[in-house]
Amino acid sequence: MRLAETVTFAGACLDRAAWARSEPEKIAKLMAEGTTRVLPVWRGKPLFAGDEAGWLQPGHAVLSEAAEAPVFLGIDEGSARFAVDISGWTPTEGEAAQPGVFFDPTVQRHPALPDDHRFAELRGVMANLTRVDAEMVAAARSILSWHRSHRFCSACGAPSEVANGGWQRDCPVCATKHFPRTDPVVIMLVTHGNSVLLGRSPGWPDGMFSLLAGFVEPGETIEAAVRREVAEEAGVRIGAVSYLASQPWPFPSSLMIGCLGVAESVDITLDPVELEDALWLSREEIARIFMGDHPTILPPRRGAIASFLLSNWLADTLD
Ligand SMILES: [Zn+2]
Repeated sequence: MRLAETVTFAGACLDRAAWARSEPEKIAKLMAEGTTRVLPVWRGKPLFAGDEAGWLQPGHAVLSEAAEAPVFLGIDEGSARFAVDISGWTPTEGEAAQPGVFFDPTVQRHPALPDDHRFAELRGVMANLTRVDAEMVAAARSILSWHRSHRFCSACGAPSEVANGGWQRDCPVCATKHFPRTDPVVIMLVTHGNSVLLGRSPGWPDGMFSLLAGFVEPGETIEAAVRREVAEEAGVRIGAVSYLASQPWPFPSSLMIGCLGVAESVDITLDPVELEDALWLSREEIARIFMGDHPTILPPRRGAIASFLLSNWLADTLD
């Protein structure tokens, strides 16, 4: 797909400067430079300043809340970029966060920051970020989430330590090295003639529908995962499968693999655990949804690959 790398979180080609990761003195030198900027993330919420990423200068009071070494993200136009997890900080004012909900609309403010700075859900801001900030914020959210959930060695249970500029954890007891995970997820634009298959999971906000999606299982190809997921969730048989585009999806560590799946059957049999509803929608109905003119279905979230694939299907730009 020619437009593949125009999806949100893609196409920036950030210089990740991996050469610096293995040398702590180089990381320390980069951290001390005046042009360096650091992004704090609080319990999965990056800092934003207005509609931009909330980069801070090294030494800023907020960054002292970090419990572990910063992650070196890379170099953007000569400026080294880092991310730190300040999840240990407890906000003393403002709204209480709503962990575990589909989309936490609350924001948290730190007293050492200006009023337009807040920790917020990335889903609500992602489509407004510059391309390179989107990549860096996504990487920061994903890798810091991994550090938070992998603090102990999975081989022996001992506390592990941040290594390699934040892209690894080492066990000081059994010497096992642990690397960050990326979980492949297939997301399918399932078509049958002039129609496309949408579904909604239990618990989603009213009116929200999307393309079917699911994790690739161990020992499975992308094509097999597409066919299995659609058969399991909706009972629809898929023939030809082709790759369209991918999107890093840092909630917390997925890689969405967008595929086109051509349906060979149309009858829908729901798996009620996975899907609350599924339906075939014509090109005209999808156009109405995007215009916000559909009586029951909301437009897909801007920035998500489902919206990207559907809009390109409408525009006939999947090639
Ligand atoms: Zn160990």
